[in-house]
Amino acid sequence: MFSARKCSGGFRAIRPHHFRSHSVSRASPNLTFVPACLPPDPVEVEELQRFVSNSKRLFVMTGAGISTESGIPDYRSEGVGLYARTDRRPVQHAEFIRSASARQRYWARNFVGWPQFSSHQPNKAHLVLRDWEKLGKLHWLVTQNVDALHTKAGSQRMTELHGCTHRVFCLGCGDQILRSELQEHFEALNPTWKAEAFGVAPDGDVFLTDEQVRNFEVPACRKCGGILKPDVTFFGDTVSQEKVSFVHQRLAESDSMLIAGSSMQVYSGYRFALAAREKKLPIAVLNIGPTRLDHFASLKLNSRCGELLPLIVCT
Ligand SMILES: [Zn+2]
Repeated sequence: MFSARKCSGGFRAIRPHHFRSHSVSRASPNLTFVPACLPPDPVEVEELQRFVSNSKRLFVMTGAGISTESGIPDYRSEGVGLYARTDRRPVQHAEFIRSASARQRYWARNFVGWPQFSSHQPNKAHLVLRDWEKLGKLHWLVTQNVDALHTKAGSQRMTELHGCTHRVFCLGCGDQILRSELQEHFEALNPTWKAEAFGVAPDGDVFLTDEQVRNFEVPACRKCGGILKPDVTFFGDTVSQEKVSFVHQRLAESDSMLIAGSSMQVYSGYRFALAAREKKLPIAVLNIGPTRLDHFASLKLNSRCGELLPLIVCT
């Protein structure tokens, strides 16, 4: 049933012109969801500078920690992550596929959260990585995030490992539409339905009661009447083998690995760090709090991505 969906490495990203604005908010970063940390240590800055200067083909992997400075919470950070603050958990793949009411709940919440979630803008860290790509320093970027902020920043040499909430596809015929387009379908189908958004999650989810969800109408695929699903790897699903091989190839062409804003708890990303270790590539980790590869990383830095990365001179 899913074979109609062609999934490739980095080639299905939404092009930046689909976004109304590429600009970055000039306001100071929203640090509500950023764990407390000290300003970058000059020694650490120097070490990361050396690491980046020595790299000619840098492979970068990012996670939710790079987007917290854009005002999007992560799942796991101590105190400020979604898991620490709430008992909400993301939808499970099997449940979404199996249950019409699970899909209704998912889409009702996603519909309410969308205007705010889709309005988030890239921060300095996203822009630095975009610049490194332009300068030829960054060979490939892999993000575990589904928020499209790297695309909004203008990154192109990139794979969205877990997909992107800005795309929706049909489980029946594979037809793909933009999530923004679907918002209009939702509005047309639910002209009098209203609910307040609060506490948007890393995937655009918000909390609603069962009562609020009950009357929400979910559209089917316009081409075949099939089930619509965001182009996102839900928890309990796996990344396609084709995409995994594609990323392994990009990693094989790289000479070092930088992980930014991820504790790497999820295996779909962690496996690439294991592969980098096997190839004996230098690995730098920039993340507030412990990560799964602290014991074998060449360099571990506990700083905000948007604060430390702009200090690095790319040569
Ligand atoms: Zn369809």
